[in-house]
Amino acid sequence: MTQDLSAVQGRDNVWEMAQRQLDEVAGLIGLNESLHGYLRQPKRVLEVSVPARMDNGAFRMYTGYRVQHNMARGPGKGGIRFHPDVTLDEVKALAMWMTWKCALVNIPFGGAKGGVICDPKRMSMQELENLTRRFTSEISIIIGPEKDIPAPDVYTTPQIMAWIMDTFSMQHGYSISGVVTGKPLAIGGSLGRDKATARGCMYVVDEAMEALGKTIEGARVAIQGFGNAGMYAAQLMDERGYRVVAVSDSHGGVANDEGLDVGRLIAHKFETGSVVGFTGGHRTDNREVLEYDCDVLVPAALEKVITRENAPRITAKIVAEAANGPTMPDADDILFDRDIMVLPDILANAGGVTVSYFEWVQDLQANFWEEEEINERLKRKLTRAFREAHEQATRHGVSMRKGAYCVAVARVAEATKLRGLYP
Ligand code: GLU
Repeated sequence: MTQDLSAVQGRDNVWEMAQRQLDEVAGLIGLNESLHGYLRQPKRVLEVSVPARMDNGAFRMYTGYRVQHNMARGPGKGGIRFHPDVTLDEVKALAMWMTWKCALVNIPFGGAKGGVICDPKRMSMQELENLTRRFTSEISIIIGPEKDIPAPDVYTTPQIMAWIMDTFSMQHGYSISGVVTGKPLAIGGSLGRDKATARGCMYVVDEAMEALGKTIEGARVAIQGFGNAGMYAAQLMDERGYRVVAVSDSHGGVANDEGLDVGRLIAHKFETGSVVGFTGGHRTDNREVLEYDCDVLVPAALEKVITRENAPRITAKIVAEAANGPTMPDADDILFDRDIMVLPDILANAGGVTVSYFEWVQDLQANFWEEEEINERLKRKLTRAFREAHEQATRHGVSMRKGAYCVAVARVAEATKLRGLYP
């Protein structure tokens, strides 16, 4: 009985899921055993206790993490997540995915991630600021523009990045804007960073549509999650000619087969905090959106939402993972057998970290670019990554995830091997 339970937990564990994804391509690229073992583990894990002053005058203890998975190709890079369900295993998985993501789009970063177990929706701005500043101070021993550069992730915002930048800068005695990306423009943020994850996702969906010989105009899109990635994906894809037919957020969903009026929907989300109650469509829910009749499905919320239970019912021909880790390995196999092209997270949401890289470069040079230049460079990087992954997938007769991993893991393995072991 106990054994059964741990087997089930093991299968559902997101860190084991990330390790399994690596294991599945090790043979394909002839990764040697010791290097494989090395890449299966994070380089460094920091757990911190974070006391934060609450509005009632008392302080509360939070637990936070910063994990650096591999830094052979450059400083660690990856967001910080504020969410009640954060676990160390989740942060380890997210850090490993950042390593592959940065390698796939060929930017000179390793992979890292941070998280704090908290519920920002139930905290005041002052409490959030206090928590952010103390967490920054606790992890400041391992972050920095040459060491590890945080960014936004689930429920963290440009304002939170500004507090991180300020806290780190005050500790050092001068402004260090390159310590964090996703900042507001006024303090060294980059044009285009706010929509970069969504824009990148759209660019790779465009490529996939072309590869599959499909027409963009009127193609039906369903989006699960309406945060930074999902909301802007709806906006940009609508502008591009796709028809957004269903969306959802943590409260529920809304659908309209004729196409949702995305502009009005976003206004409704800003006004009420949810897409629920929008009058331009009928009510649906988070689960139904995943199975909604569409051509392109964009999971843009949290991990493990596409499972072996719902994978057989997905109707989309393309699944673009704007979220990290939305598809479980068993579901991945089902989708592949059903001839559904899954654009993996490390490709489909890599637009965010790519423009983070541009932001970091601009900060270091103190020289800022026009938005067209940023979008153009983003498109070049993602188009190339799509083609390299697609070429590997075709060559080995495997999924786009495995194709993308072949490219990414080989790059990290090469850098790790070239640098050798110290001492
Ligand atoms: N949190 C985002 C991701 O998962 C962005 C990371 C970054 O910009 O460094 O890719």
